[in-house]
Amino acid sequence: MNQSEHTKRTGKVTWKSTGTYRVKSPDSIEINCSISSTLRKVLVYPHADPSSRRPTVDKVEDIRMIDPVAINDEVEFIDNEDGTGMIVEVLPRKSKFSRLAAGPRPVEQVIVANVDQVIPVMAVAKPKLKWQLLDRYLADAESVDLPSLICFTKADLVDEDEFREEAALYEKIGYSIVLTSAVDGRGLDELRERLSGKVSVFIGKSGVGKTSLLNAIQPGLGLRVNEVSDVTGKGKHTTSHLELFELNTGGCVIDTPGMREFGLWEQEGYDTSWLFWEMRPFLGQCRFGANCTHTHEPDCAIKDAVESGEITERRYESYVRMVR
Ligand code: GDP
Ligand code: ZN
Repeated sequence: MNQSEHTKRTGKVTWKSTGTYRVKSPDSIEINCSISSTLRKVLVYPHADPSSRRPTVDKVEDIRMIDPVAINDEVEFIDNEDGTGMIVEVLPRKSKFSRLAAGPRPVEQVIVANVDQVIPVMAVAKPKLKWQLLDRYLADAESVDLPSLICFTKADLVDEDEFREEAALYEKIGYSIVLTSAVDGRGLDELRERLSGKVSVFIGKSGVGKTSLLNAIQPGLGLRVNEVSDVTGKGKHTTSHLELFELNTGGCVIDTPGMREFGLWEQEGYDTSWLFWEMRPFLGQCRFGANCTHTHEPDCAIKDAVESGEITERRYESYVRMVR
């Protein structure tokens, strides 16, 4: 049958795996879709130039095709009226959560479209909390102009007051924090409230408790929880698809299992210091002005601010690691 004999409809991408998408129509019917060859033509295949191959292979997982359709995209699709369809157009995105795909030139890969907030999910313990990773996630979100909400999990494993004191520096910088536990239920109401009416993306290592948190926020999701290895304290993830969860209390959450790198700040010429909120007031005041990397230069306003305690050493170290 000719494609044009079928109805074109709009919907939202709620699930995707390589080359396969689930689109939810406004009347809440889910259609399994492929994408049209026209859309496929805009796929970018970042091929590594064999002559410039790097000695390390740590980026191999990023060398793959760039999918033109992201989770939560509004799309036009041709409905075959048998539960299947074909995506023919991606409608303009109001915001996007992206990452740079490796290759001879950096290519933006949109992971989730129409996002309202990024939620770095960090376990307070088990695995050990890595503050530098949190700083990286916050910078990732800044680099794509999205606000962050910091969500700590497994609060049942530490002394809450002590931990809040340690985490307070982020509130001082201007970030919001929720402290949750899937085990004793603390913080869940607050988190539900902060998720309500918004599209949120969870980022965090496997094993930090994202799945347990989603199950706790919405009993009935019934997602399979990871076993944390007692030896390494790390989770083993198994998921290879992306999915949008709609919450009964309002809002949607997308988890990003297995993804490690986000954001666009790794591009050449990117001003990483701008991604650290507390550094912004000092930018431009260094002796070398905009050329200062705030690492080794004399008369650096950022380094002075670290010295005087206006910028914490911990955050400054995270910055240095990111520019090094
Ligand atoms: P994910 O990989 O981020 O989705 O993490 P999971 O939700 O699969 O959880 C990893 C492990 O942490 C599992 O063994 C959970 O039982 C455990 N866990 C999750 N949430 C909590 C929590 O709030 N408190 C404690 N003590 N353990 C938790
Ligand atoms: Zn400087």
